[in-house]
Amino acid sequence: MYKFNKKLLSITLGLLCCQAATAAVSIEEATAIQRSLVTLDSHLDTPANLVVPGFDILERHTYDHDFSQVDVPRMKEGALDGGFWAVYSPQGELTTSGYEQSRDTALLRALAIRTMVAANPDVFEFATQSADAEKIKKNSKHIVYMSMENAYPLGTDISLLETFYKFGLRMAGPVHFKNNQFGDSSTDPSGTKWGGLSPLGEKLVAEANRLGIVLDGSHAHDETVKDMIRLSKTPIILSHTGSKAIYDHPRNVDDTLLKELAKSGGVIQMNAYSEYLEELPADPERKAAFGGLMKLVKEGSDRSVILEKRREIEHEHPAVKASFEVYMEHFLHALNVVGPKHVGIGADWDGGGGVDDMMDVVNLPKITKRLLDEGYSKSDLADIWGGNALRVLQQAHDYAESLKTSKK
Ligand SMILES: [Zn+2]
Repeated sequence: MYKFNKKLLSITLGLLCCQAATAAVSIEEATAIQRSLVTLDSHLDTPANLVVPGFDILERHTYDHDFSQVDVPRMKEGALDGGFWAVYSPQGELTTSGYEQSRDTALLRALAIRTMVAANPDVFEFATQSADAEKIKKNSKHIVYMSMENAYPLGTDISLLETFYKFGLRMAGPVHFKNNQFGDSSTDPSGTKWGGLSPLGEKLVAEANRLGIVLDGSHAHDETVKDMIRLSKTPIILSHTGSKAIYDHPRNVDDTLLKELAKSGGVIQMNAYSEYLEELPADPERKAAFGGLMKLVKEGSDRSVILEKRREIEHEHPAVKASFEVYMEHFLHALNVVGPKHVGIGADWDGGGGVDDMMDVVNLPKITKRLLDEGYSKSDLADIWGGNALRVLQQAHDYAESLKTSKK
């Protein structure tokens, strides 16, 4: 079996009194290594594209043309086997009608994920168990786990989580940009409301544990994450989050919380959302132009018109993105603090993720190359690319099974 450890290699070379001139791994070599591993991204917002008329996941798209970042040809090129495909719900009013509307949209989104798999049985396979990933990869298909970003659509009816579980849901995060019925968000401009999880949020944790659903603390306020770690019977995940030590942003976690997460067995999956990676210059003209674009979206304009307008904006007011190096700084920092058993990848593809030189999944082997160059081994890469997230999923499942056994 292939083993690569550059640290060891350079120490050996040093002992032999050579001028330490270890060659970096080539991108081809890194890609080949990545291809041999189960590779998962823990936060794919791609299901939002599945409901866009005219979007075909089987066709190769480009970011410059339609701003999408994931499709089957690009997954193959970038050696991405699959991941957790998110049922994302924007948050509306915390009212019965708000909840019901969102519930229906979320159910349809879950259905869109299942339909994608059902319509392309030779390309995708739906996964619910940790061991499914390896089997699906062996069958040369792409791996589809289902996750939920923002539990808002569950309303106040916790039993609805089981409905989604039956749909195949295996990971769920309580909140998004704003506080909701389950707890506090890291980015609500009004500050905190509950001081962490709400009483209903605590019930959500217990129900997720009972079912075998992994809890996702991304977007949650630090206090909410702490509550989740404290109350959850199984390790939690941060499906797309960065390091606060590199950039002090509420969407990132500091080293103390990172260590607490790792101590409880949890995993941080590194986010590539540029605005959370470093301070970027404000561009009021671009912001205003996007305001106009949103108007077109709300008016229900044709997709081709919206895309044309978006391309025009990108040409006139190009986005400033964080660099790939800064992304890797967040990544390497987390690895230094908690080690390769507690770090993975969740780049927020099709949800705003992407940095210079890595604007879609085609460029994922750059991460592998960089980690190999830093001295991480193939076995570390296997953990980072999927093993850690799958371990947490297995633990959630095992706990749920143990409850069934103890009841008998
Ligand atoms: Zn997100």
